[in-house]
Parts: sequence; structure tokens; C-alpha cells
Amino acid sequence: MAVSTAIANCPSCGRRNRVPAAARGHPRCSVCHADLPWLVDAGDDDFTEVVERSALPVLVDVWAPWCGPCRMVAPVVEQLATERAGRMKVAKVNADLAPATSARHRITGIPALLVYANGREIGRTVGALPPEQLRQWVDATVSAAPSARP
Ligand SMILES: [Zn+2]
Repeated sequence: MAVSTAIANCPSCGRRNRVPAAARGHPRCSVCHADLPWLVDAGDDDFTEVVERSALPVLVDVWAPWCGPCRMVAPVVEQLATERAGRMKVAKVNADLAPATSARHRITGIPALLVYANGREIGRTVGALPPEQLRQWVDATVSAAPSARP
């Protein structure tokens, strides 16, 4: 199955890089090798590969185009990908296009923010948190994650 790609601007040198939705390790700039923001889309076909098999913890943003509160958290979620480049991946899941993933996670309200580490969901919050609260929740959840399997 082809792995989709996204474009990330290097926070260090500004170079536009193509980053794969799934990869071993994490993406670095082709010019200066800085850690790149890893912000990708995931859906029913590639959720396992993009999220569950990720070497980095993943913040999963389940959203939909018609959802107002989703638009409030989206900029913060996308900024977190830049702020946590090299340490965290961000995957956006459009609930309308990923009914199986939504059903499997029993998503009943959006935005739903899930943190995945080592292939398992380790935390979830539903609804639009204020930016600072969202950052704190993400940091607390990720730092409580069990360390990677040997
Ligand atoms: Zn660079």
C-alpha cells in the first residue's frame, strides 16, 4: 500500500520537505537535518501503520469539517507538531472519512484528542480545550507513557 505524504516546512532553514505518513524513526530536513514537524492525515486504511506502528508518541485529532470546536483546536494541534518536532507525531483523522476508525474508538463527540504510545491509546480528551490546557494535557499524558518496548 502506498504511504501518503505531507509537506513540512523546516523550522530551522525553511526548506519544504516531503514527509511520509509512516516511517521508521522520524523525519528530518533534507538540507540541515533538523527534526521536522510530523503532521499527517490518517484514515481507516492506514491508521494502524500511521498511528499504531509509530516509533514516536502520536497525538490523534479526530475532527470533521462541519465541527466548529474542531476548528478551534486545529491550530493548536498543528502548532504542537512544530513545537514537539522529533518527539511527537500528529495525525488528523477526518471522522466522516474514517467511520471504521471512529467506531472502533467509540468516538461519540468531536473534537476527540487521543494520545497513542507504543501502539496503544493512553489518553483521551473530548471537546475543545483552551490552548494552554491542551498543551499541558498532551505533555502530562505523553510523559506518563510507558517507555518503548525493548
Ligand atoms: Zn532544514
